[in-house]
Amino acid sequence: MIATTRQQLAEIRRHGERDYPFECCGLLLGNFEEEGRKVVVETYPISNAREEEAKRNRFLIQPEELLRGEKYAREKKLDVIGFYHSHPDSPAVPSQYDLEHAWPTYSSIIVAVNDERSEDLWSWEMEADRSRFNKEEFVVETS
Ligand SMILES: [Zn+2]
Repeated sequence: MIATTRQQLAEIRRHGERDYPFECCGLLLGNFEEEGRKVVVETYPISNAREEEAKRNRFLIQPEELLRGEKYAREKKLDVIGFYHSHPDSPAVPSQYDLEHAWPTYSSIIVAVNDERSEDLWSWEMEADRSRFNKEEFVVETS
């Protein structure tokens, strides 16, 4: 389960709309709590590192960007608890590429952006054996 705020979800949606028709991506920074619960404290936008023509279909976070994000998180006493990205003109469901490039434990928030407007937004968590993603329950706090 992952806890977020309305403001964080709005930031992810805005990032997805801004980068349309390309995929946006970013980190979810926060805390791992007991019983697999995660709490997002901040979103950390990252530009999409791929070549222009590949940007539409796949996201990639370059290692140095991830390191920078991790360093920033450490300074704020937070962890990287997941990733978010957008799916321009396709459903908010993980692709085969996403399955091959994700890790268990982390959350993957995906927002569908159709025609510059963000629509479905779901969080996914990978099965421990990496065979598939399961939809993750998310709680939206009002603060
Ligand atoms: Zn994807």
